[in-house]
Amino acid sequence: MPSEDAKALMEAATDAVILIDQTGRIYAVNHAAEDLFGYTQAEFIGSDVSRLMPEPDHSAHAGYLARYLQTGIGHIIGRGREVRVLRRDGSLVPVALSVGRIAGSAPPRFVGFLRDVSEQHRAMAAIQNERDYARESEAVSLRSQSRLMAVSRIATMGEMAAGVAHEVNQPLAAITNYARACERFIAADPPALDDIRDCVREIASETRRAADIIRDLRNIVKDKRVERLSANLSDIVRQVQPLLEADARAHDTQLEFALAEHLPSVMLDNAQIQQVLLNLARNAMEALATKSPATRRILISTRTDDQGAVEVSVSDNGPGVDACVVDRLFDPFSTTKASGGGLGLAISRTITQAHGGSLSHHPAEHGGACFTIHIPQTHSDPA
Ligand code: ADP
Repeated sequence: MPSEDAKALMEAATDAVILIDQTGRIYAVNHAAEDLFGYTQAEFIGSDVSRLMPEPDHSAHAGYLARYLQTGIGHIIGRGREVRVLRRDGSLVPVALSVGRIAGSAPPRFVGFLRDVSEQHRAMAAIQNERDYARESEAVSLRSQSRLMAVSRIATMGEMAAGVAHEVNQPLAAITNYARACERFIAADPPALDDIRDCVREIASETRRAADIIRDLRNIVKDKRVERLSANLSDIVRQVQPLLEADARAHDTQLEFALAEHLPSVMLDNAQIQQVLLNLARNAMEALATKSPATRRILISTRTDDQGAVEVSVSDNGPGVDACVVDRLFDPFSTTKASGGGLGLAISRTITQAHGGSLSHHPAEHGGACFTIHIPQTHSDPA
């Protein structure tokens, strides 16, 4: 039996303490061991320590001890590790176990300290679950965002079809005219070869113009993966500029750009931000339909603030946002249009928020509406 001091030390310990002799027989335990295992002192004393172990350690323990006594090489002795122990009620508990040889004991005796770590396990599992859940919901949200984007892109392009058709028709009409002129120059006697050459060159250049418009369109409608790269907001606006101009011409609207030259780059999904711009410009054009063509005006501008955040605004001089919708402008399905889906602004806000940014509305100077996409510099974590 341990001395009175050793006993007091054992009882003061919050870890379970178990002392065994060289055969594995328990000869002392503290109260914490009783609490951990559910056995009383009387039940512990004299029993084999392997009763506290599940298989395979239960059967192997006598072998571990024998090997240590022969070779001095311990399985657990002298090192700590995490194991599972068997309680009286048959349940298993994870414990941090450290076993040491009692100095000077001959034949050797051993002391084991066992700390219940099930609480840490539960906490770790909860953290892991939360991480898994966060990862899964992020993946789901990215997937549904991509699907929404694809639908919304195609819807926007449908709305822009009039402008685009008009734009493609112009080079086609020019090609037809040059082809007719060619016929005349060929029929002349002698054929006007220089004029024919000029016409053919013009036909080639008009064909390129039509092809460029179609390429821009395809780039936007293509179903793209969500992908964030370091990008300059002014460049992103420039990429959709030809399409917006075509749309504006078809709606007799004057479109102006004020693009800052040296914007800091931010992490952006190019296609998504272009989608938001197209949505905002479409809304502005639709709002301007009530005004006379000569006065319709839209301004798209970019800027940075002193925190390095970048902004792009789309403002118009239309009638402004109707009071009946202004409070729920960004809610899905809120629309004042007979044929409107009311999804454009909701999707646009979701996209900007997924970039760590915001989309806001302010009344514009002359009574129109101004929508601003704000993207902070610090958000550099690609999804
Ligand atoms: P939809 O265009 O299909 O109605 P949105 O979510 O894009 O859906 O827009 C919601 C509503 O916000 C529109 O119906 C319109 O009343 C209002 N709105 C959006 N942009 C403007 C704007 N530039 N000027 C005035 N009202 C606007």
